Amino acid sequence: MQDRLEAIQRDGESKIAAAATIAQLQDVKATLLGKQGSVTGMLKEIPGLEPSTRAQMGRSVNTLKDHFTSLIEARREEISIKAAEVQKDFDLTVPGVMPRSGALHPITQMCYDLDDTFRSLGFEIFRESDITSELYAFDNLNFPPDHPARESMDTYWLEKHEAGRGGDRLCLRPHLTGASVRYIQTHEPPYRFVYPGRAYRNESTDARHERAFFQYEALIVDKEIAFSAGKVMIKSILSKVFGRDVPVRMRVGFFPFVEPGFEIDMGCLVCGGAGCSVCKQVGWIEIMPGGTPHPNVLSAAGLDPDVFTGFYVNIGLDRLVMMRYGVDDIRLFRGADLRFLNQFR
Ligand SMILES: [Zn+2]
Repeated sequence: MQDRLEAIQRDGESKIAAAATIAQLQDVKATLLGKQGSVTGMLKEIPGLEPSTRAQMGRSVNTLKDHFTSLIEARREEISIKAAEVQKDFDLTVPGVMPRSGALHPITQMCYDLDDTFRSLGFEIFRESDITSELYAFDNLNFPPDHPARESMDTYWLEKHEAGRGGDRLCLRPHLTGASVRYIQTHEPPYRFVYPGRAYRNESTDARHERAFFQYEALIVDKEIAFSAGKVMIKSILSKVFGRDVPVRMRVGFFPFVEPGFEIDMGCLVCGGAGCSVCKQVGWIEIMPGGTPHPNVLSAAGLDPDVFTGFYVNIGLDRLVMMRYGVDDIRLFRGADLRFLNQFR
């Protein structure tokens, strides 16, 4: 038995030394110390030995087991160190390849910030298609039949739809307001929702106007709404977006779909009120038209204007972004010039 023990030791030591990977070492360990392993087999024989040799052999086999265990651990360490070694022709000083990561466009960032703010005030976010019809863009919104906005000088009508009327005459939405009627028609009162998106106007571009632009509208409709509640809402939204109190003023404004209507101006943050090209040298910039939905609009949406009233604002996302970063030309945000856009990551 002593001879067999010595044979197992020689065989085991050479196999452990020959193992080149952790997996191979694992296999060697199993053949020696596993359930069917040779050392384990020897241990099982101990109880059947003569009492005079039993204790001596027990000690020898256990010593061999400990010997193998420590050899295997030492070999495992060697293999790990070798695997981590760097190849001779590997140059650690060569600069690495920077992983490219994208970022949100500043207008998208602003849109998400407004989403968060409105959600925190209990509003739902509603989106609809960019293509709408004369019915939703104008008829439902109290635009008179001869209103100039209906002309193709202002609105992009879809080809082959010029001759139609109402729901059959399709266009790129010239504003988002039509979505308000669609939402009310398909939901139950009371209403608190926003409907952000892109709107399209057929007009020449300058520092403040683009043919496609983002708008962000918010509407509350309920049985009783104090005008002051709407004012508080606007104040809290602007201060959250800009992280400080922003000078704001309200003026009377006229839009076909509100009665009464107003314009909200904020102090120009590009020039600090001194006057610049963005604010047309007056120090204030129109940022939000709004008002109480016109009774005809509420009727078009299927609500009784004697029972329901509301508060509506249309937030100019582009203008807010220009104010946030002090950028005085809206076209820069549309230019897809990464040298410009990378500044807002
Ligand atoms: Zn200014």
